Amino acid sequence: MSKDRLPEVLEKWEAVIGLEIHTELTTLNTKMFCGCPVAFGGEPNTRVCPVCLGLPGALPVPNARAIESTILAGLALECDISSWSQFHRKNYFYPDMPKDYQISQYDRPFCVGGHVDVEMDGAESVRIGITRIHLEEDTGKMVHVGGSEGRIAGATHSLVDFNRAGTALMELVSEPDIRTPEQARRFASQLRLVFLTLGVSDCNMEEGSMRVDANVSVRPHGQAEFGAKAEVKNMNSFKALHDALSYEIVRQADELEAGGTVAQETRHWDAGKKRTSSLRSKEFAHDYRYFPEPDMVPFTFDDDFIEGLRASLPELPDARRARYARAYALPGNDASVLSSDLGLGAYFEEAVEAAGGPEMGKAVANWVLGDFSAHLNAEALLPADSSVTPRKLARLVQLVGDGTISGKQAKAVFAEMVATGEKPRQIIERLGMQQVSDSGAIEAVVDRVLAANPEEVEGYRAGKTGLIGFFVGAVMREMGGQGNPAMVNEVLKARLGG
Ligand SMILES: [Zn+2]
Repeated sequence: MSKDRLPEVLEKWEAVIGLEIHTELTTLNTKMFCGCPVAFGGEPNTRVCPVCLGLPGALPVPNARAIESTILAGLALECDISSWSQFHRKNYFYPDMPKDYQISQYDRPFCVGGHVDVEMDGAESVRIGITRIHLEEDTGKMVHVGGSEGRIAGATHSLVDFNRAGTALMELVSEPDIRTPEQARRFASQLRLVFLTLGVSDCNMEEGSMRVDANVSVRPHGQAEFGAKAEVKNMNSFKALHDALSYEIVRQADELEAGGTVAQETRHWDAGKKRTSSLRSKEFAHDYRYFPEPDMVPFTFDDDFIEGLRASLPELPDARRARYARAYALPGNDASVLSSDLGLGAYFEEAVEAAGGPEMGKAVANWVLGDFSAHLNAEALLPADSSVTPRKLARLVQLVGDGTISGKQAKAVFAEMVATGEKPRQIIERLGMQQVSDSGAIEAVVDRVLAANPEEVEGYRAGKTGLIGFFVGAVMREMGGQGNPAMVNEVLKARLGG
């Protein structure tokens, strides 16, 4: 209900949104400060050692690849890379954190500044600033047992699994530049695509390897100072992010319009009930008693190191989209869709190559975005897992291009490819589908059809040119649907006179 009121609310109120995005560096082999493996799942408390359990005397050793991954992310997002950086201890007690402090970064993050230009349909892109990107270690996981649905309320006891504790966690903080839930959704999904492209994380939101928290406030349009903000947590999909922000903006505006105030607090998004609820008051800022991590020396990065990393950046999503549009002459939307899905983009490029090069781009894109995507959706497959390989699809596109089969026949062949995994040639032969492009054969059928329908021929010659469809239909029926449509049209028009 609140979502429908959002446009009306946004006319009166301006929303101010900043995001904090935590991304586990899941593609690393080991955790941030020890040699324990990084992997989702596993028997509880089997991927632990004295360092990530915080046992006395254990010393952390920083993971070089984690730092490089964070700097790569910063370079991709046009951040400034700090030439001098260090880790701090963030002190607080929570049972999922074995050391009672988290090694994080404070006033010396690896990356500062930077931005993302968020593409909006039919409108100018919106530039969202990035405040900082820093590196820290993840906590363990609490499992609340008993009670209902694993919620804390009603649980009889809690278990803790430290497998995740100490996993490298990259935190990106945006500027409060976001004004709508849709901008927030697109900003987060563009970041996800950048991280996937860099290969620093699997960014799986359901498994929690990418987690988005939002700070939201509203203020009357034109007011410079910010309103009191709520922090919204527990959004484990982009849709949840959009829904939670929409709900929260309307809730705050209603509160203020009723003469109330917005409490500065942390709120929990309940996707089932589609509402946020108060989790804890944030009136008192925590005193984390940050101090420099005494077990590690600070880091200095020289220009050679930073430029070396910059040179290793892969092609980023914006550049890929521009290349698709340019090299394959694709419309903007096709280029966007293909470049925003790494698997689909790779499939497309391989199919274009196999089909004969960039000039086949548009024809291949039509198949990849049409029948092929529908087939993936229907069977919940990734492009690489389909039995319709890029090479087979490319062959199908070629067979339409050279007139062997019609576009309509090709759709039937594609359906058979999905069902049987056969090559298009085999299917065409098995079903006797070859398109007839023999002009003599077509002329003979056309002549028969015209002779059998003298009234229609007279009508056509008297100006009822719409009858062409009738003749094409009759010829195609006679040919079992196998006549080359372009040639049938041509021969008919020649015989009927123009
Ligand atoms: Zn460990």
